[in-house]
Amino acid sequence: MSDIVKHYSNGAVTVVWKPGLCAHSENCWRGLASVFNPGKKPWIDVTASDTESIIAQVSKCPSGALSIERENKGSQE
Ligand code: SF4
Repeated sequence: MSDIVKHYSNGAVTVVWKPGLCAHSENCWRGLASVFNPGKKPWIDVTASDTESIIAQVSKCPSGALSIERENKGSQE
């Protein structure tokens, strides 16, 4: 299994992509095609939608291949 991890940030959140975990359910690009487009390189464009829509779509990834890191600049939890 691949242990590659890619990060795509829009300044507010980072989409973390672990291709080795992808179950190819197609949820992501069927649900938010402007951001998740397997025909493009890079295939994730976090500038193509708003942060809340990206977070909502990432939460629907069934395999854990997609996850979100929030960028809490100036405040640590
Ligand atoms: S929703 Fe998750 S498991 Fe499905 S294709 Fe996208 S990244 Fe892969």
